[in-house]
Amino acid sequence: MRDDKGAGCLDQELRMKLRRIPSVHSLMESPVGRELIERYGHAEVATATAELLDEVRRQYLQGNEPEDFADPDDLDGLFEKLYDRLFQRTRPNLQRVVNASGVILHTNLGRAPLPESVLDHVRMVATGYSNLEFDVQRNKRGSRQDHVEKLLRELTGAESAMVVNNNAAAVLLVLSAVASHKRVIVSRGELVEIGGSFRIPDVMEQSGAELVEVGTTNKTHERDYAKAIDEDTAVLLKVHTSNYRIIGFTADVSLERLVALGRKYGVPVMHDLGSGFLLSTDQPGWPDEPSVQQAIAAGADIVTFSGDKLLGGPQAGIICGSKELVAACRDHPLARALRIDKLTLAALEATLLLYRHPERAVDELPVLRMLRQNEEQMRQRAEQLLVRCRGSLGDSWTFELVRGESRVGGGAMPEYGLGTWMVRVQKRDRPAHVLQRLLLAADPPILTRIERDCVMIDPRTIVEWERETDWIVQALTAIS
Ligand SMILES: *Cc1c(COP(=O)(O)O)cnc(C)c1O
Repeated sequence: MRDDKGAGCLDQELRMKLRRIPSVHSLMESPVGRELIERYGHAEVATATAELLDEVRRQYLQGNEPEDFADPDDLDGLFEKLYDRLFQRTRPNLQRVVNASGVILHTNLGRAPLPESVLDHVRMVATGYSNLEFDVQRNKRGSRQDHVEKLLRELTGAESAMVVNNNAAAVLLVLSAVASHKRVIVSRGELVEIGGSFRIPDVMEQSGAELVEVGTTNKTHERDYAKAIDEDTAVLLKVHTSNYRIIGFTADVSLERLVALGRKYGVPVMHDLGSGFLLSTDQPGWPDEPSVQQAIAAGADIVTFSGDKLLGGPQAGIICGSKELVAACRDHPLARALRIDKLTLAALEATLLLYRHPERAVDELPVLRMLRQNEEQMRQRAEQLLVRCRGSLGDSWTFELVRGESRVGGGAMPEYGLGTWMVRVQKRDRPAHVLQRLLLAADPPILTRIERDCVMIDPRTIVEWERETDWIVQALTAIS
């Protein structure tokens, strides 16, 4: 039954409350309002104020008492909210995130973090003008490719090289330049999809090349390729199954054998290597991942890989191979559309320079450092963090050391688990998924992972130890 009289009273009370809400104009004309206008501009403050007052109004209409607006004569709470809102509106949305998940190449977190030395070079080059496409010695136009081509030749052993926006672009460009309107032979076991958006068959279609699938998902033999080769065949393509493994009853054709077959029929062999490992892996402690040098040495006519996976640099696509094929890529109209920008180029050059002395690359590039750290080092780090957490947080919290595995991620080395030690975080009355969300709501957000229903902090992917562990402890402390 509706009580008309009661509802009328409520309406009256509500109307009173709504009337107490100050106008946008009055807030903006107040001393604080003027100060804000000076800092953020009239339009920005007007929008933020209108939004905030709408929110207060909505709260009343929903039957709530809006926090910070209990007393109409005290506007401090409201102004604080306004400050907050303006700060959030005017600061960049792309922000630093602490990766405590233990996944080294997290594609959603921007893959490889860059070292200070690489960023110094970017800053130096981009703050002013640069010789991006200018040959200073000869006082004439140059090519942006010149800055890295020689380095790439030196490091990989390839005859020629060029760089583009990312590896997807590299594959698209090579196929467009070399195989458009022709046929490309690929094993059915290698028709990969990476990160939900890069699919070999789709890229093939875009390039105008015709995909010829040979073999089966688990087995492809040399004779399968040989049977498919005809005069329209432009490329034999091998794709590194970088984000999965086919195990069990399997057969594939090694790069060396494919190269021999290609030579026999006069068809170039392309290897989409994906991850771009550029260190020699024959020392203990490194995973068994094919390197770029190995692919070139095996005779691949063209090799493509990413700059921000195991190479540990910025997002880029690198094409290494024979003079003739790389020249065809450079001359193709798509090269301009897919070209690398100067910030990336500066970062890539600085990254590649580190590889001149591989120990420096391992010391300085975060991705390599994280891959290299052993279980004992991880245990010490985890223990440090554990001690800090226990010292700073009350007894509703439980912190423990647990053994676990970090992952390479980013579609590289899918089976390769790196032994690690983690801090298991539990809080009374806070289920793991709630705790995880609260840590993500911190500033900067902390990404953890959940294992066996507990939040885990893996020290392996913490990039700047002091700073990021401070942020972690602060974020935990802020959770009541
Ligand atoms: C990651 C990957 C790609 C896509 O590279 P992006 O740099 O992300 O564009 C293509 N092929 C393989 C085999 C890969 O592993």
